[in-house]
Amino acid sequence: MIFTHDTEVALGFVAALTETSPEASDSGEDELSRPGQLVALLDAWDYSGRRDGDERELAEVRDARTRLRAIWLQDRDDAAVSVNELLAEARALPRLVRHDGADWHIHATEAEAPLARRILVEAAMALVDVIRADQMERLRVCDADDCEGLYVDLSKNTSRRFCSTRCGNRMAVRAYRARAS
Ligand SMILES: [Zn+2]
Ligand SMILES: [Zn+2]
Repeated sequence: MIFTHDTEVALGFVAALTETSPEASDSGEDELSRPGQLVALLDAWDYSGRRDGDERELAEVRDARTRLRAIWLQDRDDAAVSVNELLAEARALPRLVRHDGADWHIHATEAEAPLARRILVEAAMALVDVIRADQMERLRVCDADDCEGLYVDLSKNTSRRFCSTRCGNRMAVRAYRARAS
């Protein structure tokens, strides 16, 4: 394991969240334009805590998505500054919690804090690990020329190139055709 389990889950969630943006989604549309789409994402990741289910929350989560995508693409020193900003803004207070069958892990916001704030802080705490371990190069953008999807490379020798097998297969077919023609 490269990072702790909760950090890997949090990073995976950020990648999944950013995958709903038009430049990375399968449909090419914003897949967080309706509250139901947010519910589906949260359920898929067993996201705990408060959910309002309204348009305001949805808009805040879209803003969080934009911010996290930008940090993902920053170099280590800039990312450290951004993470500190996020933690200060949310007055994050780390503590160990154990809930819903999940073993001890860190929460740095109350379960009753607004969803977008919890998403930002959880991501920030995971990024703290990534930055401290000097592993920012594991936060990647898909190599496929028509995809801007983000992913975490958890491979041993940081050799992963695509956000999904879908992109990997598509690029393999394209490379094959290019060789064959
Ligand atoms: Zn938790
Ligand atoms: Zn991709």
